[in-house]
Amino acid sequence: MRRTWLFMPRHILLIQDDAPHAKAVLEALGNSSDATFQVEWVRSCAEGLARQADADAILVDLLLPDSRGMETFQRLFRAAPHIPILMLIDPQDEDTAKLAVQCGAQDYLFKARLDSFLLPKALESMIERAAISEAMFEQNDRALVTLDSIGDAVMSTDVACRITYLNAIAEALTGWPQEEAIGRPLEEVFRIVDGGTRESAQNPVALAIRQNKTVALTPNCVLIRRDGVEAAIEDSAAPIHNRRGRVTGAVVVFHDVSAARAMTLRMSYLAQHDSLTDLPNRVLMHDRLVEAIVLSNRHRRKLAVLFVDLDRFKRINDSLGHIVGDRLLQSVARRLFTCVRSSDTVSRPGGDEFVLLLWEERQALDARLTAEKILLALREPHYIDQHVLHVTASIGMVTYPEDGTDADTLLKNADFAMYHAKQCGRDNYQYFQLEMNARATERQAIEADLRQAIERRELLLHYQPKVDLVTGAIVGVEALIRWRHPQRGLVAPGQFIEIAEECGLIVPIGRWVLREACRQARVWQDGGLAPIRVAINVSAVELRALDFVSSVADSLAATGLQAHNLELELTETFLMQEAKSTVAVVRELRAMGVHLALDDFGTGYSSLSYLQRFPIDTLKIDQSFVRDLATDANDANIVRAMIGMGNSLHMRVVAEGIETRVQLEFLRALRCPVGQGFYFSRPVPPADFARLLKRGLRTDAVAA
Ligand code: C2E
Ligand code: MG
Ligand code: MG
Repeated sequence: MRRTWLFMPRHILLIQDDAPHAKAVLEALGNSSDATFQVEWVRSCAEGLARQADADAILVDLLLPDSRGMETFQRLFRAAPHIPILMLIDPQDEDTAKLAVQCGAQDYLFKARLDSFLLPKALESMIERAAISEAMFEQNDRALVTLDSIGDAVMSTDVACRITYLNAIAEALTGWPQEEAIGRPLEEVFRIVDGGTRESAQNPVALAIRQNKTVALTPNCVLIRRDGVEAAIEDSAAPIHNRRGRVTGAVVVFHDVSAARAMTLRMSYLAQHDSLTDLPNRVLMHDRLVEAIVLSNRHRRKLAVLFVDLDRFKRINDSLGHIVGDRLLQSVARRLFTCVRSSDTVSRPGGDEFVLLLWEERQALDARLTAEKILLALREPHYIDQHVLHVTASIGMVTYPEDGTDADTLLKNADFAMYHAKQCGRDNYQYFQLEMNARATERQAIEADLRQAIERRELLLHYQPKVDLVTGAIVGVEALIRWRHPQRGLVAPGQFIEIAEECGLIVPIGRWVLREACRQARVWQDGGLAPIRVAINVSAVELRALDFVSSVADSLAATGLQAHNLELELTETFLMQEAKSTVAVVRELRAMGVHLALDDFGTGYSSLSYLQRFPIDTLKIDQSFVRDLATDANDANIVRAMIGMGNSLHMRVVAEGIETRVQLEFLRALRCPVGQGFYFSRPVPPADFARLLKRGLRTDAVAA
């Protein structure tokens, strides 16, 4: 820009009524060697006002025909504040000229002393100065527009921490318009407190000025707006320096982080809570327990931890679906809340487990009362959609410091105690005892030994007959696994099948059972015994293995057993899984000609309509219904209904667990076709079963 000026003629407006003086000016400028001047000469103030617009500078004699002294200057200045004005005066008017300079005129020269050196120099520097200040003005304007359009609030102060500037955002966030804020102490306009303690936060500006460096605002800083509304803010203050490097004030830049801070809070809440029940999750529960231990220690108070695990929850989840399962968990969570004080913690570390921290237990008795309350509260039916669900819980209890001095030990021992409660028949609570530790260790030992059981040929099958309740003939046989453990002796499936299912060992074990049962059935046939259908038990875990169907086909092919001589006893747990593949697997097996039975019928949640989807041949009524058949009218009614249901679905019904003559008679009266139980025979080794098959059952046992 400067360079173009050098080549562009300066347009000078000369307002002068006195012709000789005007000529002197024209001459002085015409002879200038520095720059070219284009002078427009007018003789009155009015003419000057009319022509000022294009001028780079105005040269004016304050004494004009239509205006005099200060008035001349003021009229021109008002009309053209940006055009530099140089006044031509007589010495006696110097005071007026000085006044005009104070009011904005650039300078004055004595009319009598104009020459071709001084005048062009004066004009040139005057025009240049005006251009610079114009540019600065523009720049400042631009800076202000910029500051108003950025997203951050900007505020500046002088060294005494008095407000000198606020941009639009700062006005909005503080609630102070700039005009009102300017000159006020920063603390009045910018009221900040610590979000946690609510104490006044340190003034960052004073610090920035004092230390002459950029200072970050207190973390967790909250700005209180003029009307009291609060906003979380974040940012910094920095000192402002003049050209000589002296601190002249400070600028604070800040922005509203309420949304971001709220989001952070929400994220950390989510990371610490279970989304289904909104209860603290494992992480937060652990933190609270650690904290509770410290407090209990300090105040010499007791602390109890209750480990609550729902009984057979998986069955509900599998049979009625996850949505119902989830709602049941929510219902349980609500009930647990009603059993504790507000200072206690109810958490859900996962699945169907809940952990309760009971603070300030004065004696162990308090925890026991709470456990009893929980068992009672949970036993009440839960109404979820059209379902009336019954669920119980097993509770393990520990107290601090007796059962452990750190969080992990307490939780582990509470888990042992809970496990013990399960083994004591569920729906009860147990205190931790040292032996439980031993039991858990034993469980691990069983798992380790079980891994080698197949290779070491420690597994074997016993066989129990299924009997026609009218004729007494043996119409089938169920293979039941046993484990001959080198130290423990003969171990029943109840002691290891669940462990095998949990660790996946059930798959190779099940393969072995399948192959062995088929082989044995074939051996009996080949030995001249009448062909008999052999049933094996299959866990849900095994059925879910992708190659289950082909492994059945392989076993039949390898042993030469006909498919209709093999029966698979499935559980409701498997059938009720919602997966489409469940129906497909069952249909494939049935298509192969294998018979299918539903074991332990009545203990799950199968509905009639659901069962119809599966090509099941046999329903096995669970022994728990048979046990009290003769004495409990309710059970008798259920068994009657089951038999009726089996008939209408064209399924054969087998009653399990017949132990007495009375039970047998009862079942006969209800027209139950087939039965199984100790009354006829316990499960026996293959050789014994072969004898039984050849000889038949004792006639007195089966005679009608
Ligand atoms: P289950 O399939 O319902 O088998 C019937 C269980 O009841 C057997 O117990 C049998 O010995 C027992 N039992 C038979 N008659 C009577 C009776 O009159 N009174 C009483 N109180 N009990 C009777 P066991 O052999 O201990 O098997 C328990 C469960 O272990 C079986 O129940 C079955 O679910 C599972 N199981 C057994 N063998 C296998 C197997 O090879 N694979 C899988 N996955 N599970 C198996
Ligand atoms: Mg069975
Ligand atoms: Mg059964």
